[in-house]
Amino acid sequence: METSDFQVNTLIIGSGAAALNAAICLYEAGQKDILIATEQWGGGTSNNAGSDKQTYYKLSTDPGIPDSAKEMAADLSSGGAMHGDIALIEAQYSLQAFYHLVRLGVPFPHDQYGAYPGYKTDHDPKARATSAGPLTSHLMFECLARKVKEYQIPIHDGVVIIELLTRNTPEGKAIAGAVGIKEHDTDGLSSGEIRYHAQQVILATGGPAGIYRDSVYPESQTGSIGLALKIGAKAQNLSISQYGIASVKFRWNLSGSYQQVIPRYFSADPTTGQTNEFLQQAFPSPEALFSAIFLKGYQWPFDPKKVANHGSSLIDVLVHREIAEGRKVYLDYTRNLLGFNINDIGQTAREYLEKSGAIGETPIERLRLLNQPAIDLYRAHGIDLTREPLEIAVCAQHNNGGLTGDIWWESNIRGLYPIGEVNGSHGLTRPGGSALNAGQVGGIRASFHITHTPHPTPHTPHPTPHPSQPISDTIDLSSALTAIQDRMSNHAGPIRDRETIGQQVKEAWDLWRKLNKLPEPKSPISRIAYYRTLDLCLTHAVYLESIDEHLKQADDEEFIKTNILEVQLDDDLNLQKNWIPVRPIPSNELWFEAVWKEYLNNNKQKPSVDEPK
Ligand SMILES: Cc1cc2nc3c(=O)[nH]c(=O)nc-3n(C[C@H](O)[C@H](O)[C@H](O)COP(=O)(O)OP(=O)(O)OC[C@H]3O[C@@H](n4cnc5c(N)ncnc54)[C@H](O)[C@@H]3O)c2cc1C
Repeated sequence: METSDFQVNTLIIGSGAAALNAAICLYEAGQKDILIATEQWGGGTSNNAGSDKQTYYKLSTDPGIPDSAKEMAADLSSGGAMHGDIALIEAQYSLQAFYHLVRLGVPFPHDQYGAYPGYKTDHDPKARATSAGPLTSHLMFECLARKVKEYQIPIHDGVVIIELLTRNTPEGKAIAGAVGIKEHDTDGLSSGEIRYHAQQVILATGGPAGIYRDSVYPESQTGSIGLALKIGAKAQNLSISQYGIASVKFRWNLSGSYQQVIPRYFSADPTTGQTNEFLQQAFPSPEALFSAIFLKGYQWPFDPKKVANHGSSLIDVLVHREIAEGRKVYLDYTRNLLGFNINDIGQTAREYLEKSGAIGETPIERLRLLNQPAIDLYRAHGIDLTREPLEIAVCAQHNNGGLTGDIWWESNIRGLYPIGEVNGSHGLTRPGGSALNAGQVGGIRASFHITHTPHPTPHTPHPTPHPSQPISDTIDLSSALTAIQDRMSNHAGPIRDRETIGQQVKEAWDLWRKLNKLPEPKSPISRIAYYRTLDLCLTHAVYLESIDEHLKQADDEEFIKTNILEVQLDDDLNLQKNWIPVRPIPSNELWFEAVWKEYLNNNKQKPSVDEPK
């Protein structure tokens, strides 16, 4: 197999919204010795995910709603387990990032006076959310990609990075590059191994989609956080993810109108075919059930606080339980639930449907009146809601945790900058839309740091030794992947059991040890599958261990909110776990003359070396 070598100042891994913005920021700041290596141009979450009204979160630009970065930082971190300095930076840079997207052509709606109005999203008291429609992140990708092409930033497409390279320095480990595999000969690049020697690596590989069976991440997103975990990069809050009800054949969040029209939920036994309206038994009255379904439209993500007292998240628990017991669960828009009466749906739901002119006989009629495009969307993907039930599951959608970055998004591995969803900047909760903002802000910060910090020329990198031993157990990669995904969706999704999680941790590491003994295959395509599975296996073991540790502390709500669980693999792949206190929102008062003087002294805001890591 051919091996080629590339030397570049900054390697950017991935081509989602976070990666592309980082490339543009570096280029515009004068660092043009950059290269994007991505497994699939156009793949990943940003370009392929969407929802009812896909949201971008930023400081309020509504002239009627006063706001400040400090207030936004407080709201970003109000759920706990988020560092205050990171929240302040995400708030502070949110407008810069937003207007950058506006300038690139993302069609965020505004009025004739230049106001970009907002609406309230979850965990948001200030109506800071905005949207360019159901495909906001896709539009971001398109506009960012156009600029990357205009700047002729080199792109290595079809390259899967399988390993990060490091070198030892007196200050500790530093990044030295990465190894990728290219499956096919395209764009003047031969298939085979590519070694990238780089002073900095921006890792923008997105969320860990591939570890889940029940997932609303797009099929093209797998995630590669294991690459960084393996070289000892710190991670945090890995146990905190977002889940919600989504369709599984065509992956799409069933939020907003899909729930507000109160569809019929039922489960079916795949062997007997017997169906059951299983939600009915768990709610004290039809009215309580109908209004919980309606509320799910606004309260889409699973929230453990909304389970008690027949809250909307009880539905997620019950759907999850049906699936765990071997039944399939569906939404049916062609018929009402047993006992449905439009007068029994609760005042809020009734008023909403009335004002929207959507009082229809059946859920599909109500949906047609409320939001015809919601029906068209499924039809475009071969599913006719007017005739067939829609299979659903409680699906993984976003990882609030991820790799740990400092205030410049640099990890503990010097020169390695995790940005976008692979960076775990969020806490226990996050306002809807803050993921897209955090991804853009991360790119601005990382590129600023890279262009203002001298990084020494790399020496020859040390590849991570990969022991190849005879196979002691027979195991094939696809059954290993199924085991990983089943384990995560059954035991590490929205419902977790502290009694059984320890056994899952053990089985996860056993699987990792078995896989690690497999000999490395030779062809590019088999090597990609082999490293992918290994990466996902390591990832799921580390996630499960973090969840286990989190569950041990879960009863102490105050502790969970005021501390963050950091984890790090040592050289023997033992996981070190450390709870660290949440850093507060910085409260230093700004005095213009003082900041100006410091700015000039520091060569126009060059980051000072003793900034906290
Ligand atoms: C259904 C859905 C709805 C959402 N709605 C919202 C919303 O309304 N608001 C919001 O803020 N967020 C939302 N999110 C989350 C948000 O879309 C993502 O967090 C964000 O798009 C991630 O961007 P990213 O650039 O970090 O990663 P991605 O866009 O996922 O890009 C990752 C890139 O890395 C590449 N890659 C991965 N591994 C490798 C490797 N080993 N080698 C080379 N390349 C690799 C992939 O091919 C891809 O190009 C939603 C997510 C989903 C799934």
